[in-house]
Parts: sequence; C-alpha cells; structure tokens
Amino acid sequence: MKCPYCSSNDTRVVNSRPADEGTAIRRRRECGACHRRFTSYERAQFEALMVRKRSGRLEAFNPDKLLDKLRIACNKRPITEKQLREFAYGFEDEVQVPEIASEEIGRRTLHFLKGLDDVAYIRFLSVYRDFDSVDRFIEEIKQLGELGDPPG
Ligand SMILES: [Zn+2]
Repeated sequence: MKCPYCSSNDTRVVNSRPADEGTAIRRRRECGACHRRFTSYERAQFEALMVRKRSGRLEAFNPDKLLDKLRIACNKRPITEKQLREFAYGFEDEVQVPEIASEEIGRRTLHFLKGLDDVAYIRFLSVYRDFDSVDRFIEEIKQLGELGDPPG
C-alpha cells in the first residue's frame, strides 16, 4: 500500500486489530521513506452490486451514473458535492446486498434527497419516476407537501 503522505511503496504494517465489531480490520502502517504512520481498513465486500433493470436485465452498479443524476437534480441547490459523493460512493456499502432493483435505488435516493432539499427531491422524482400523467405527478407532490411543511 502506498504512503498517503509521500506516495512511497515502502510501507509496513505495525499492528492489526478488528474494528467495527469484527466487520473490518484496522491496520496501523508505517512508511519506510518518511516514517509517518497512517491507518488502513480492510473490509469484506460483495463482488459488485448488481442492478436489476425494469427490463429484467442485470448490470453492475455504477456510482458515477448515480452521481451524475444527483448533480442534475441538485444543480444550484444548497447541497454540496461532498454530500452527493458520500451518498453515491457509499451506496454499495450501505445496502449490503448482492442485487438491487433499479426502482429501489431510486427510492433510496429520493429518501436521501427528501431530507436535504425539497426542490432537488422533486426534480429527481420527475426524472426518475415515469409519470404517465401530469395528474399523478401533482398528486405525488401534494403528498410531499402533506408530509412536511408547505413549500415556500
Ligand atoms: Zn511516506
């Protein structure tokens, strides 16, 4: 493993111990070049999260794709790039299942946005759910209003 300070490959493990209730191993490492110490975590992970599309086809989860959609929904809203990245790149670890339906990704993303910003939530909702009519879209927004404070 490369040293995060000087990028030297000359690093060694000083000690290892279980972390996060045994789901990870925490290793202290020391760099042979700059002698600084740093920590790394090792975790077991599913091979790759697979996404079940509406067509029934499976494809590997791509956090960059999710991030792109989030950026569009959150454009000029008070949500930081960091918040979006944490959600998109942490998604796989968060769900801890080998396979997920694309609808479920949308549902979890909506849940995430709802807590952050109503405008971003509605934007994502309008793109994500294939509304067959304007009435259904308005209905959904009404429900949103009933759940929280009225917009404005
Ligand atoms: Zn170093």
